[in-house]
Amino acid sequence: MNIHIRNISKSFGAFKALDRVSLDVPAGGLLALLGPSGSGKTTLLRIIAGLESPDEGVIEEDGQDVTERHARQREVGFVFQHYALFRHMSVFENIAFGLRVRKVANAVIHEKVNELLHLVRLDGLGQRKPSQLSGGQRQRVALARALAIRPKILLLDEPFGALDAKVRVELRQWLRRLHDEIGMTSVFVTHDQEEAFELADEVVVMNHGKIEQRGTPDDVFDHPATPFVMDFLGNVNVFHGRVENGRAFWHGIPIDYPDYPHAQAREACVYLRPHELDLVRANDRAAGTNGSGQRSLLANVVRLTRNGAVIRVACQPHNSIGELHVDIPADAARDLSLNPGEQVSITPRKARVFVPDLEYVI
Ligand code: ADP
Ligand code: MG
Repeated sequence: MNIHIRNISKSFGAFKALDRVSLDVPAGGLLALLGPSGSGKTTLLRIIAGLESPDEGVIEEDGQDVTERHARQREVGFVFQHYALFRHMSVFENIAFGLRVRKVANAVIHEKVNELLHLVRLDGLGQRKPSQLSGGQRQRVALARALAIRPKILLLDEPFGALDAKVRVELRQWLRRLHDEIGMTSVFVTHDQEEAFELADEVVVMNHGKIEQRGTPDDVFDHPATPFVMDFLGNVNVFHGRVENGRAFWHGIPIDYPDYPHAQAREACVYLRPHELDLVRANDRAAGTNGSGQRSLLANVVRLTRNGAVIRVACQPHNSIGELHVDIPADAARDLSLNPGEQVSITPRKARVFVPDLEYVI
């Protein structure tokens, strides 16, 4: 079932939680809504579910206007971060709940619930109470409960948010396989980019009730459409620079920027990712250039931090107050054996430039 969202707005008092949001979710797709807390993700999900009605706009499912339909009349399954399972009921009865409400025959319920217990890998645990399960197992019960009514659309609001890192990773890989097996249309809310990128076909980045960008994980990571997306993806060095004549300048180092061919200089923001910078010991090179004669930036090493498989080198450029972070693979760092205080020469391999009011990316 596909979902068309057209110009949805929603205010709470004077606060605009959603501002003319339009979005298509293709049938069978798994889409992640990614954004900081308060950006409107839950509100949008609740409107898709029919738990909240929009002030303006239309929701269509397979071409049918369902805007005024309540959740009960839509074929939607919902999993929340803290899904209040019924504590006094067994796991079996929790999963059976939606079927009992719909007066499904006992024998059918037994068959279906056992099938679902198997699907969520909880065979044999039907008679336990939720309190006798781990957090990850409880969220799988919540998922089985949402799936029991055979929804066409599955909506998940930070379902793994309360679980520890290892369980989260396992569950999201498992959820991805489950989604493909069942062939539903799913919308997954998260503020965790790693989770969104690993799980979803497409990511929608939200900010202040609006969509900043929509694209595949590769699109969004490689071509962030706005400074907000770039910042939100994190780990980025931001500097003020200028653009003119098809080039941006960062500390006097030119970077091609064909989107601004004009002669009149304008201020710009230059975004440099730590792993897209080259770093060499400065005394190995002629000062101010790298090996190929390209201009580079001189800086002093401030500290070195282990960050998984890379070493993050915090540097202090000679002509700027802000620190610059460069990531180098741990083995390359070992070969360089840098120490704090040493002078290094830094060259960007890639940069993204944003000129205010000129929403272009290179
Ligand atoms: P997210 O899920 O991205 O964290 P929400 O959709 O929950 O964001 O909320 C977006 C904004 O709308 C927040 O600032 C929140 O405080 C506000 N909001 C959400 N629901 C209500 C409500 N029922 N009443 C008042 N304000 C609300
Ligand atoms: Mg939320």
